[in-house]
Amino acid sequence: MANPDIDILICGAGAAGLTLAIDLARRGVSFRLIEKRETPFDGSRGKGVQPRSQEVFEDLGVLDKLMARGGLYPPQRHYRPDGGFTDRLMSDPVPASPAEPYHWALMVPQFLTEAVLRDRLAELGGVVEFGCELTAFTQDDEGVTANLMGPRGPETVRARYLIGADGGRSFVRRALGIGFPGKTLGVRAIGADVAVTGLDREVWHEWNDGDMARQVGLGPLPGTDLFQFQAPIPLEGEVDLSVAGLNAILTARSGRDDIRITAVHWASAFTMSARLADRYREGRVFLCGDAAHVHPPTGGQGLNTSVQDAYNLGWKLSARLSGAPDAVLDSYEAERRPVAAEVLGLSGRLLDAAKQGESKRGREVSQLDLSYRGGALAHDTRGGALAAGDRAPDAPVIGAAGQPVRLFELFKGPHWTLLLGGSATAPAARKGLSIHRVGGDIQDRAGCLADAYALGSDEAILVRPDGYVGAVLASAAAAGLDGYLARVGLELSPSI
Ligand SMILES: Cc1cc2nc3c(=O)[nH]c(=O)nc-3n(C[C@H](O)[C@H](O)[C@H](O)COP(=O)(O)OP(=O)(O)OC[C@H]3O[C@@H](n4cnc5c(N)ncnc54)[C@H](O)[C@@H]3O)c2cc1C
Repeated sequence: MANPDIDILICGAGAAGLTLAIDLARRGVSFRLIEKRETPFDGSRGKGVQPRSQEVFEDLGVLDKLMARGGLYPPQRHYRPDGGFTDRLMSDPVPASPAEPYHWALMVPQFLTEAVLRDRLAELGGVVEFGCELTAFTQDDEGVTANLMGPRGPETVRARYLIGADGGRSFVRRALGIGFPGKTLGVRAIGADVAVTGLDREVWHEWNDGDMARQVGLGPLPGTDLFQFQAPIPLEGEVDLSVAGLNAILTARSGRDDIRITAVHWASAFTMSARLADRYREGRVFLCGDAAHVHPPTGGQGLNTSVQDAYNLGWKLSARLSGAPDAVLDSYEAERRPVAAEVLGLSGRLLDAAKQGESKRGREVSQLDLSYRGGALAHDTRGGALAAGDRAPDAPVIGAAGQPVRLFELFKGPHWTLLLGGSATAPAARKGLSIHRVGGDIQDRAGCLADAYALGSDEAILVRPDGYVGAVLASAAAAGLDGYLARVGLELSPSI
């Protein structure tokens, strides 16, 4: 077989494929990102960007742009049959803390999120190949041979790995024969982006919530002049997604003929289901994002889970290509499949609650508490509130030049970060490892690092490139740390 042309072929340029491409681009890994659509997806559907995804997007260099284009979720206005209404927040306001800088879900229409990700990819020299479809592939010991149909006609490409980030109907998953068990959830709904007259944009308007036959909602989409239209519909039958069809539903359910839909920008009628792929990996082929799991939109988890799959996989692909053992790639499914299973349960419970008219959200949707504790990459010799596998908290500290700096700024980038206690033994230098000593080049003047990490003087905490704690070492005995670093592909730097 011919040598691979590229390291990674990513099939699908949705949120998962774009995130993976950005991560690979900043690591200098060669890839192609193909997308069968001729033009970018233009719907708002996955619009909730949860706090943990905001942290991921900060690391990838896009959070400020997302914040600028999006906004916070407005209060929900629940209209009563007598014409009165009650305004409610979707979540109770919780202030940010030094350890958790983002506590609110951002609302950004998915097409804007994807546009910001494409811009970032372009900054890093990457490109989406639109109008290019994966039509077949085979794999062998050295790589994957993929048949593409693109603007220039058929093409064959060799890659070391293929990533199926190709959505819920994944061609890659089907071609591999990977089961996608689950169930449909007995709910069908319209989601649409519409232009509306006669309605203010300060609140999310909801009528008849809890009544699946009469519920309808119109929410203002930040960064646009549009509203998102949502309405459950009967499981069977034709749906009229035109201006006239949506106005008919709106007027009948809201009783308001002063509100008019004047244009439909995007519309979809979808049946909700919950499904999880039996496996995420088959040799040199991986599933990522909706290709591996689909859930109902309640709780805004789908896009977030997909982005975080990609963020988990990117550094592992890069590590393997740099010589890490293959087991590092196995940890992708081991870590991410249980997360998706949990998210499936959560969004199903939230859907049941929504059927009863309950739309309040709590911390569980933030994805801040996801943990890989006990997994193959979690090495912990201390035990404690913060353990290997947990999300690494943020903390403001004072940097080497006396400047204020956040730990997340020190973590930012594709490297690993080792936090050493004052008297802990530093390991030998390795490419891709940043080392900071508390009381040395960083000062914990406000005590926030101590609060979050409880780092003892002879202890060390190793933070993975994706912001999770890899190792907690009661004493930074070189043996434990060196063994771990070798397992994840961090080679000793050559001595001069
Ligand atoms: C109506 C609706 C509402 C939703 N609401 C929310 C929400 O509020 N919050 C939330 O977090 N999530 C929501 N989601 C889910 C969210 O949209 C998805 O989880 C997210 O888009 C998944 O991203 P992805 O990149 O994995 O897949 P996708 O966005 O589906 O991208 C896959 C891409 O692969 C391409 N592709 C497929 N086959 C091929 C091929 N053979 N060759 C090349 N390209 C291919 C497709 O064209 C597509 O662009 C909603 C979903 C729907 C349908």
